[in-house]
Amino acid sequence: AGPVKSICFIGAGFVGGPTAAVIAYHNPRIMVNVVDLNQQRVDAWNSRHLPIHEDGLLKVVRVARDGTADATAFLPGLSRPVELKARQPNLVFSTRVIESIGEADAVFICVNTPTKTHGLGAGSMADVSAIESAARTVAKHAKAGTIIVEKSTVPCGTARMIQDILRYHRPETTFQVLSNPEFLAEGTAVDNLMHPDRILIGSAQTLPGLRAAALLKDVYAAWVSPARIVTVNTFSSELAKLVANTMLAQRISSVNAVSAICEEIGLGADVDDVSLALGKDTRLGPKFLQAGVGFGGSCFEKDILNLAYLASELHLDVVADYWLGILRINEYQRQRYACNVVRELNGSLRGKKIAVLGFAFKDGTNDTRNSIAVHIIKDLAGEMSREIAIFDPGCASADILVEIEKIGLTQDQFSRIRICTDWREVVQEASAICVLTQWRQFRGRQIRGPQKSPEKHTNTSGRAMTPIMRDEALTEMKILALEDVARRESSVSEDPLGRLKPLRPCTNNCRHCGVS
Ligand code: NAD
Repeated sequence: AGPVKSICFIGAGFVGGPTAAVIAYHNPRIMVNVVDLNQQRVDAWNSRHLPIHEDGLLKVVRVARDGTADATAFLPGLSRPVELKARQPNLVFSTRVIESIGEADAVFICVNTPTKTHGLGAGSMADVSAIESAARTVAKHAKAGTIIVEKSTVPCGTARMIQDILRYHRPETTFQVLSNPEFLAEGTAVDNLMHPDRILIGSAQTLPGLRAAALLKDVYAAWVSPARIVTVNTFSSELAKLVANTMLAQRISSVNAVSAICEEIGLGADVDDVSLALGKDTRLGPKFLQAGVGFGGSCFEKDILNLAYLASELHLDVVADYWLGILRINEYQRQRYACNVVRELNGSLRGKKIAVLGFAFKDGTNDTRNSIAVHIIKDLAGEMSREIAIFDPGCASADILVEIEKIGLTQDQFSRIRICTDWREVVQEASAICVLTQWRQFRGRQIRGPQKSPEKHTNTSGRAMTPIMRDEALTEMKILALEDVARRESSVSEDPLGRLKPLRPCTNNCRHCGVS
């Protein structure tokens, strides 16, 4: 097979959309078709209000999708600048699943793989039904020789499952299935894709397998140095992705476990000091070492469960238990936070208003899936406060509502929750302010003590185990503090504590603008 000239991405989600855009941006000669079954999502990708918020993403999409760019524009906020140049468009978003698969030299499967919610392995095993369904469509419509790339995070052995599906439907053709897990982090997706630490490609260790891996390597070599492209066998690649997420989460749970010790020990032991000292050790490094409310999001928990499930299937119960400890600490940390709120408010929330600043699972994204906030809100809702008011500068109210509806509140508890689009409404008359996402807007000196380093990670809000308490005397001061942040950041947007502003008024009811 010759070089890849046409790629089909199946799944226009948080991974498929940005990855396709960056591949298309760096490979102007490759036609990139991104397909999804969700018409609304595709429509949003074709508008100026993309369905996901990532710094710099709209600019990259506009170059590759529309061929337009300010010739002098650089992508801001990246670890290293990237210049954007106008050229022929080569990125298309559509629901033309069958046609796009039929035209492709390579098909990237980027569909969702959540934890199973029912049946065998519910609560721990990955649900690969979307992968199966995509593989069946590929099997029926791909041309001979098309390379199948497994981009989704999957249980070990899924590439083999895809291979079996292909063989069943097309016994006369041999397809090469590669594992190419994605390591981007939401909130910094474009930066991670533009400057990846490594690209991992797993293939069969046969001549055709290695040839397919080399063709995929050429696609990435358009902007990634060959030294950063690692090729291994398929199973090692699948396993490496699960272990990478598990070990990142493990660091968070480790430092959070230390925060519990610091709080109990008294004597002034400070988890931030401990983190600082640990981070200076070059063997450990400073990242993912800030104590906080724990990790949320759609990946870490699912991938830890996935790895633990694999271990228990292999009858390695001690190993499974070791990894599951990460999740136990995470849950413990969340519950400790909710307890702190109640304890600080004299043991009862009755008649009191609680302000929640931040609902996204981390800053820099509008992703609300499995956010820390929703778990803490669930615990607090049980305490029958007068009101829990929520504000997030990047999330649509509709998305917040969807997550809250999932947690099974009683009608009475639900009626006390209010989602606001103005931070002032949220903090007004609140007895406690819970900062649950580390948005830069919430990192003001007056609000959270010294400015935190801008390093982003999933451990939601830095040293946030103590909610901000307020009494009448403090109320005015805290609101002034927020306004001060607003003033300092006023060059960023008109009302930086308000919603992230669309470039122009939204007319298409998109999720991101929340104008539903
Ligand atoms: P997502 O839910 O945002 O996107 C998946 C998309 O696939 C959806 O839009 C869905 O409509 C579409 N889809 C499902 N079945 C389809 C089919 N048969 N045909 C066409 N479209 C179909 O999910 P995501 O966050 O992008 O994650 C995708 C995969 O990448 C998961 O396995 C995840 O674990 C992995 N991953 C995610 C991240 C992250 O930060 N979100 C990072 C690395 C890896």
